[in-house]
Amino acid sequence: MYDLVLKNVRLPKIEEQYYIGIENEFIAEISRTPIKGKEEIDGCGDLVMPPFVETHIHLDTVYTAGEPRWNQSGSLFEGISIWNERKQMLTEDDVYNRAIKALCQLLKHGVLYVRAIVDISDERLTALKALLKVKEDFSTILNLQIIAFPQNGLISFPENKKRMIEAIKLGVDGISAVPHLERTREEGIESIKFCFSLAEKYNTFIHIFCDEIDDSQSRFVETVASYAITSGLKEKVTACHTCAMVYYPDSYASKLLDLISISKINIVSCPLINTVMQGRYDSYPKGRGVTRIKEMIQKHINVCIAHDDIMTPFYPLGSGNILQAAHMAVHAGHLTGSDELEEIINMISINGARTLQIADSYGIKKGNEANLITFSVQNTIDLIRYQPHCRYVISKGKVMAHTPPSKTIFYRTIQN
Ligand SMILES: [Zn+2]
Repeated sequence: MYDLVLKNVRLPKIEEQYYIGIENEFIAEISRTPIKGKEEIDGCGDLVMPPFVETHIHLDTVYTAGEPRWNQSGSLFEGISIWNERKQMLTEDDVYNRAIKALCQLLKHGVLYVRAIVDISDERLTALKALLKVKEDFSTILNLQIIAFPQNGLISFPENKKRMIEAIKLGVDGISAVPHLERTREEGIESIKFCFSLAEKYNTFIHIFCDEIDDSQSRFVETVASYAITSGLKEKVTACHTCAMVYYPDSYASKLLDLISISKINIVSCPLINTVMQGRYDSYPKGRGVTRIKEMIQKHINVCIAHDDIMTPFYPLGSGNILQAAHMAVHAGHLTGSDELEEIINMISINGARTLQIADSYGIKKGNEANLITFSVQNTIDLIRYQPHCRYVISKGKVMAHTPPSKTIFYRTIQN
């Protein structure tokens, strides 16, 4: 008799239905034949998967769109300017409450592994302290990593160097840089160098905002990849956005993609914000803002797709449903091949687990933590088509959320 049995669920690409037995927070059995539990949940023939992985979300800026004013131009620079104003009003309670609201939305949509970005360009480190408390308070429900991010730069805003070290001592999991926003290319490289020196010294992840600008001369990914090789940090390093890559000549991009592949760094693309924010300075045709995902798949680079923002000065929409980001990536990246559609789901699941370095304990298998999500769809492509809510979200063997599928009632007979 197991603590909990999830019955009548289908694993991806398998027709038969399974019973999953959970004991002491772990998956104890996966069986085609019925098993009994003290509590039993009918999966109704749903698809069951491991939870999604959000590899890049700003939990300090969530739900601040319009405060103190709306980003009318939609540009990154107006967003930064508004956030600099909003940042002055932060309190730990304000950040804590908004972060929890966002985490509940992510959880409802099946995300149980989260890498959160927090701006440290605030001398009081208010947001960081609030998110470290969120991490502690939510540790029994979801896996939260925190990255210290110097929104205003490291070299052009030197106070951030000191705050970065303070953030490490307070307990962040990783550190960041934003080289394309430093004053010069040389200072951008210096910021990357500083970030790597700290990561080596304190053994942290690196998660660098890289080339989030429509400038074919913004080429910091090559520096990040090169340092990842020489430092040996490799898979512990992530470059996110990399939007400028679509403006590079193909000859340079080809060399760069080989370098990224050799370096083993992870790439995180944020298709929701970058389709709407990039290309603002283009005439027609306008750039799509999403990095070269298609070519990265071909080079076996570990690419992830992230939601990034929920109602922030940078992006006014977002619901916490990471499938919306996957849907956008398919369109902006021309990723409609059948293998590509399957790979898109990997980019919000197993690839994310690799980036967070939790892949060894990720997935539905005996002995792993019982973290499971179910969907009332036929296959993974339907996840991208419909972007449905999870019917069940189970974390460490406990049902955390239940959203019954919506049902439409037709009042007249519709004939073809
Ligand atoms: Zn971001």
